[in-house]
Amino acid sequence: MADCLFCRIVRREIPAQVVSEDDQCLAFRDIAPQAPTHILVIPKAHTASLEAVGDAAGVVGAMARMAQQVARAEGVAVTGYRTVINTGSDGGQTVGHLHLHLLGGRDLTWPPG
Ligand code: 5GP
Ligand code: ZN
Repeated sequence: MADCLFCRIVRREIPAQVVSEDDQCLAFRDIAPQAPTHILVIPKAHTASLEAVGDAAGVVGAMARMAQQVARAEGVAVTGYRTVINTGSDGGQTVGHLHLHLLGGRDLTWPPG
């Protein structure tokens, strides 16, 4: 999608600190990290949100798999981490391209705000 921020990161039109990539997904560091490890895992193909994923829902499994691998590579898998998909305005979604937050490296409180 031409104007989508994360599609532009996939196309390398906007720089990002990429930590993992495969044929379906890309993982890169969040520009405003909320934890020592804060990585976004996205599908390369534009999907607006979890609400819009429909028949492409299989990609969510690929995102989860990449998050697990990145968590291990970042050294947070043993102590634990959190994965979050914000959906829509009440869900706190600010970028309209499906993404999974991987947060770790500190004690994360619950419930989130
Ligand atoms: P959301 O609030 O939609 O769940 O999360 C969007 C995330 O994208 C935020 O954590 C925000 O910091 C991150 N973000 C916004 N713009 C950029 C950018 O240009 N580059 C990177 N790496 N992250 C971004
Ligand atoms: Zn997009």
